[in-house]
Amino acid sequence: MTDDAGASAQAKPRIIIIGAGFAGIGAAIRLLQSGEDDFVILERGDELGGTWRDNVYPGCRCDVPSHLYSYSFAPNPDWQRTYASQEEIWAYLRSTADRFGVLPHIRWSHRVIDAIWDDAEGWKVQTDHGAIRCQYLVAATGSLAEPSTPGIPGAASFAGTLMHSARWDRSHDFAGQRVAVIGTGASSVQIVPSIQPTVEHLTVFQRTPGWVLPHPDRPIKPWERRLFRLFPPAQRLIRSITYWQREIVLVSAFTKFDGLRMVLERRVKRHLTNQVSDPELREKLAPDYQLGCKRALPSNDFYPALTQPNVDLVTVPIDRIESGGIVTVDGELHPVDAIVFATGFFVTDNPIGDHVSGREGHRLSEAFTGELSSYLGTTFPDFPNFFMLTGPNTGTGHTSQIFMIECQLNYVIDALEALGNRSDTVAEVLPSVADAFTEDVQQRVKQTVWASGCASWYLNKFGRNVTIWPDYTFAYRRQTRHFDPSDYVIGHRSVEARSPVVAGGTE
Ligand code: NAP
Repeated sequence: MTDDAGASAQAKPRIIIIGAGFAGIGAAIRLLQSGEDDFVILERGDELGGTWRDNVYPGCRCDVPSHLYSYSFAPNPDWQRTYASQEEIWAYLRSTADRFGVLPHIRWSHRVIDAIWDDAEGWKVQTDHGAIRCQYLVAATGSLAEPSTPGIPGAASFAGTLMHSARWDRSHDFAGQRVAVIGTGASSVQIVPSIQPTVEHLTVFQRTPGWVLPHPDRPIKPWERRLFRLFPPAQRLIRSITYWQREIVLVSAFTKFDGLRMVLERRVKRHLTNQVSDPELREKLAPDYQLGCKRALPSNDFYPALTQPNVDLVTVPIDRIESGGIVTVDGELHPVDAIVFATGFFVTDNPIGDHVSGREGHRLSEAFTGELSSYLGTTFPDFPNFFMLTGPNTGTGHTSQIFMIECQLNYVIDALEALGNRSDTVAEVLPSVADAFTEDVQQRVKQTVWASGCASWYLNKFGRNVTIWPDYTFAYRRQTRHFDPSDYVIGHRSVEARSPVVAGGTE
């Protein structure tokens, strides 16, 4: 389909949101609540839910408490467990989108090929169904959207089944098979204990041991659910307590008080000592970096699964894959029938970044390499009328990502209200404002546990932490509460694209 044919076939919405995960659905709800219904969501799948739609591996469960891992404006009194399963979260997201009237705005199976800013005409979003123009573009494409499978030599010659944790094939039956799981991160610690009882043999390939914490998950009792339904403030209170505990204890330990972190480390180490009696295995599983540097892993059944007679933990690096299994650098062949890559995602190098272009051909991916500054991880110089949700340094390693998304949504809604209804308004953050913000974040992140020397997916290929918010999240909330027009060059396209007529300085 040509651009023009596609464009003429599509109405021109004022706003396009890319992605119908937690961020995109949240954006749509907040737009509707603010009285704005001139928008569409472009969703590449035929179901909404983002990472909670895609990660269907056995045992998938959120490691942030349910009462906190939900929209503040849509509490769910019916959570079945204190840490919800993938099925429950996905159902929550679908029913919330339906309840708030979002579904008619979604264009299903619309894959965005690229999005390009044009000074004369605004954003043009090319999809596999044609092009659509809009005034404002919101990227809600998520950080954990594109599975990363390491290019281990010989993988194509493997005779058995290969699967990534985020592309789980439910039709495959692992029962009675010899299975390898590569990786020991958040996905692996849930998969390993889920499949260990049914497989004949499980070989877990560990490159770096994680910090595994006791998991406080439990069923929520029927009387508790009744209480939350009849008396919603009770649930709000639990949400608040959970939020503040995590801020005060974890952020303080990870960003301010080393002594507190060391106390937590001693307590967490007891979990390993209590669950693994074999000194050799314990040694292999003991992390040698600071707690929190990589995302900590709550699990009560990962260590016990590794102690089972049908499980081997291999710490010798992988050399190659052959048709019959995995060969480690010591030359040993580990024969397997199936290989699960629990190897994470393209986060700082999410491919979508190369397909969103602002002025002068600048690409969004530059915001993750460090070449492009961001303001509040949300707006970027040379990207007019553009907002990114879960953008650079808006991630959290200790609390609900939905909290951060809602902070960004407050900002976006406030911005759109401040910019008004004219269809030719153009707003672009001042480079000086974005540079100052990014420099400040980068200075602060250097003082935190997230820059304490371990390799993690929070870092880009240059070792720069472009993922984590380095402070209390309430500080981010404070910064995103209001859109300040003086941080932007705001003009009207029909007058002169970059002349500041509402507010803002000159460049
Ligand atoms: P991850 O945390 O990035 O873990 C990937 C694992 O694969 C690591 O152990 C890594 O080792 C290993 N690995 C990567 N490449 C490898 C290679 N070439 N050879 C050997 N090992 C290799 O990925 P994830 O477990 O999918 O989790 C990603 C994020 O998703 C989490 O941090 C979390 O934010 C989210 N998540 C959350 C939940 C939850 O809420 N419960 C569940 C799943 C995922 P190194 O450590 O040495 O790099």
